[in-house]
Amino acid sequence: MSTPVDLAHSVGRNLLVITWDDGTVAELPMPYLRSWCPCAGCQGHGTVVRRLDISDDVRAESLHEIGAYAIAIRFSDGHDAGIYSWTWLRRLSPQSEPVGLKSGEFADGRFTSAG
Ligand SMILES: [Zn+2]
Repeated sequence: MSTPVDLAHSVGRNLLVITWDDGTVAELPMPYLRSWCPCAGCQGHGTVVRRLDISDDVRAESLHEIGAYAIAIRFSDGHDAGIYSWTWLRRLSPQSEPVGLKSGEFADGRFTSAG
């Protein structure tokens, strides 16, 4: 599993900048992260990962790390239920949106079912 060696919130650019342990740097816009919120309220209980239609104005009001595996983000629309695990964040590069089944692997730009 990839883990971040650096997490930076660029307020001016409204981005989360993640440097992964393999040297990959991902710049994730806050509205993009909000639209892929992993919480049950946003994702429901189905097997399809859903992208929400979110305003481009959404910003992050606060971020905090949860243990050594995730961050929680409080967004300017008041939503703070999403726990963004490293695995989830790794899937959320703009070039590799999570589509398809939730239980599976995201590799080589494709999300494939575990079963
Ligand atoms: Zn949510």
